[in-house]
Amino acid sequence: GADISARTIDTLSSSFPLCMQNLHRSLRRDAHLKHYGRLQYTLFLKGIGLNLEECLIFWRGGFNKITDDAFNKDYRYNVRHAYGEVGGDSNRRGKGYSPFSCHKILTEHPPGPGEAHGCPYRHFSTENLMGLLQTVGVRDQEALRGVREDKEKTKFHLACNRVFEYAHKQEIQKVREEGTWGAAQLETLIHPNEYFKRSYLLRN
Ligand code: SF4
Repeated sequence: GADISARTIDTLSSSFPLCMQNLHRSLRRDAHLKHYGRLQYTLFLKGIGLNLEECLIFWRGGFNKITDDAFNKDYRYNVRHAYGEVGGDSNRRGKGYSPFSCHKILTEHPPGPGEAHGCPYRHFSTENLMGLLQTVGVRDQEALRGVREDKEKTKFHLACNRVFEYAHKQEIQKVREEGTWGAAQLETLIHPNEYFKRSYLLRN
């Protein structure tokens, strides 16, 4: 099985959808993420199978410009809360919160200045989106033009799926030819955790 731990997240992040890659890059750049970004990213990481202990190691390592005391005081509780270890009502206890779907990310809590959560296909300007895509390795002009058009038509899912198909072109061709994946396994992605799962399965 996959080694999903604090020290493998950097590597695994190449299989994350753009929303989560953006959070990851922002965390590495700023050694910080604001509340809603932490929540969106924590629940995603939980969804890919990162356990609470490793998630706390991951965040502590990410927030590397503050003291242990400050981390424990300001951030530890929220991570444990997301995993259902503390607080919340009794049905959430032990379970915590579910990872956000695309629909939720696209429609709730739009990011404000200095915030990195949300969906880049929706919440970034077209120019910033093109820049981010090129930074993460999407340089094909046709793919970029397609995303630009999807965004203009507010088809944010389509843009995300287009990038998935571009980034996994060879792998998808292979499973199609071999007939190992049916249509159901290649249908439109509507959840960031499905994006990761499918990418991981195709690449490993
Ligand atoms: Fe993330 Fe969904 Fe937006 Fe893709 S469409 S970047 S998975 S929120």
